[in-house]
Amino acid sequence: MRKKVIAGNWKMNMLPNETINFIDEFSKLVKNSENEIILCVPFIDLFYALLHVQGTNIKIGAQNMHWEEKGAFTGEVSGNMLKSIGVEYVIIGHSERRAYFGETDEIVNKKIKSALKYGLKPIVCIGETLEQREDGKAVEIIKAQIQFALKDLDKKMMDDVIIAYEPIWAIGTGKTATSEDANNTIKAIREEISKIYGQNVAQRVIIQYGGSVKSTNSHELFSMSDIDGGLVGGASLNAEEFSKIANYK
Ligand code: PEP
Repeated sequence: MRKKVIAGNWKMNMLPNETINFIDEFSKLVKNSENEIILCVPFIDLFYALLHVQGTNIKIGAQNMHWEEKGAFTGEVSGNMLKSIGVEYVIIGHSERRAYFGETDEIVNKKIKSALKYGLKPIVCIGETLEQREDGKAVEIIKAQIQFALKDLDKKMMDDVIIAYEPIWAIGTGKTATSEDANNTIKAIREEISKIYGQNVAQRVIIQYGGSVKSTNSHELFSMSDIDGGLVGGASLNAEEFSKIANYK
């Protein structure tokens, strides 16, 4: 039985004092949750977040990293740096990074390999645009993204990879894929992973849904056979709202 993994993506929100207040409130609300709960916070909040989740069931993730270990890459942060302060997860290839910062499938693949090398668990985002969906190309696009993203990864590495299926048209728009639709696409992703790594890996890999997840739709989405939790943007910024999502039973 796969565990539900519920991750918040704060994007470029929350100052350190807000992070500390959030964790103080949120940790009390989710202390009995049986799900894996992750907060992916801005770089400047990581250290504060890591200190404040000590003794709780909350894990901390970053939202991006560079693929090189160190060097002349002004403004960048490496996987090695993240690991050195105790970060466990890192979002890779979010659609906002692909759209606004020119992240290609090749860069995404390099970042995933580097994350794994430094012992971080990548949350790998894939998803189709509205145009691709309307052209009936969603599954084809997603399969190609999976093949690119996972290039050169072996079966063992797949134990530490989480996939987040996020239809781009559903991110921050209030539009959600229907639970059946999201489940069917995630099944197609599992099938693709099965073709590459076999059934065992495909049945073990955690695949989340992301795109306007809220406490009012999370239960239905997470109850579907192949949806193993969610990557949650806007609704993860409010402790009470996010706790309702994270407490899924
Ligand atoms: C996201 O940031 O990955 C996301 C899905 O955002 P939202 O939940 O706000 O749509």
